[in-house]
Amino acid sequence: MAVNTVQLQDQADLLRRGMADLRAEDLELAMLLDAEVERQHRTLSLVPSSCAVKPRTLAASASALVNVTAEGTRGSRHRAGCENVDRVESLAIGRARELFDAHYAHVQSHSGSHANAQVLSALLEPGDTLLGMAPDHGGHLTYGSPSIFTGAYYKAIRYGTTAEGLIDYAQVRSLALAHRPRVILCGASAYSRVVDFERFRAIADEAGAILLADISHIAGLVATGRHPSPINAAHVTTTCTHKQLGGPRGGLILCGRDAHTKVPGLRATFSRVLDQAVFPRMQGAPAVNMIAAKAAALGYAMTAEFDACMGRVRSLADELAGAFLARGYEVVGGRSENHTVQIRLRDGISGSIAEVALESCGIVVNTHRVPGQARACAVDNGLCIGTGSMAQRNIDTDGCRQVVDLVCRILQQVTPLGEHEYRLEPAMQAQLRAELEHLCAKYPIADYWES
Ligand SMILES: *Cc1c(COP(=O)(O)O)cnc(C)c1O
Repeated sequence: MAVNTVQLQDQADLLRRGMADLRAEDLELAMLLDAEVERQHRTLSLVPSSCAVKPRTLAASASALVNVTAEGTRGSRHRAGCENVDRVESLAIGRARELFDAHYAHVQSHSGSHANAQVLSALLEPGDTLLGMAPDHGGHLTYGSPSIFTGAYYKAIRYGTTAEGLIDYAQVRSLALAHRPRVILCGASAYSRVVDFERFRAIADEAGAILLADISHIAGLVATGRHPSPINAAHVTTTCTHKQLGGPRGGLILCGRDAHTKVPGLRATFSRVLDQAVFPRMQGAPAVNMIAAKAAALGYAMTAEFDACMGRVRSLADELAGAFLARGYEVVGGRSENHTVQIRLRDGISGSIAEVALESCGIVVNTHRVPGQARACAVDNGLCIGTGSMAQRNIDTDGCRQVVDLVCRILQQVTPLGEHEYRLEPAMQAQLRAELEHLCAKYPIADYWES
């Protein structure tokens, strides 16, 4: 029988066939997938972490590597059939090390939260003390929130920010010296200033603590030299790959100069305990297709195009902060030094009202608790907005002004009727939505996908 050489021979065939099969045999799901692409075209995300992946990254994540079970890592694989997997993983590791100038990279963590959990489980015994940024001051839930494993297994001490929204380094130092944590965690989900990693390391050294830096939100700025790198300042650095790095859902664990030094109190090196923390302690077989997608994203992150995009991320944040200030809004700290701008809501509009009202007009935001809010208050009083998606859409100074103008007009048109209820005239809402869609069409995300 003749071998059919045209059908389903390679990755591209499989992807085409997959979409055709979904359309033909599972229209319900196919329509939902298309609806999401449509939503991404027609809405503007101002969520600080939001980022669209390149089609090449999407394709790698949907590759046939998904069929391979590959416990272990290259060189110590517990399975046969891993020749391509080994090469893909080596590529991802090499690119992660090159991009961040790291001596060690682990690319298997399924998410940023997993990467943090893996590092913490490698370095802490249950009951040990962890010092991290309080979630209501911008820290991530994995930094010791009572509702998360870190809060349940470790004694979590929290530091916060000053009224200007700056990390209170004096508080970090006094807490570190008073509680002698085994690990100090620096990094944040909602913070608009530069994190001083060297200062954190000095505090960690003084207190005899290990420093873990989490750069999930700023990895692109770090990779392109627009934010100081923690790679050598911290003992260990983690990041998720799906925020500024524009990769798939996943995490990375990185080490610089401390990669091959012994973990204080243990006989093994950081690289060794981290390897074992990922597998077998916390994960089974890696998602190799996602490792391929990480490699694709890390490769793209080394291009001049990515560098230019991160340049826009920074300059748009300055413009955004300036435009909100010019509109009379309070910007926490008066400015931004990264990709986020935090503004205080006013006129009785709560975070939850702002979120729903803005989304009804096609603008997606994160709400946030900005400094000065009473702790007992359940409703956020601010917005934490970011410029990642605006930069990918190539929004310029003029477009940035239009975005701020639209946000302000939507908030002005809202009449709050309590903490969660509000009124927005339907005709006005429809008009604002049409203006937003016009803006999205003028700065199409498709240009980014096609570039
Ligand atoms: C998003 C984020 C993470 C990880 O998130 P996952 O969704 O679990 O990948 C970790 N740390 C910080 C600071 C983050 O913002």
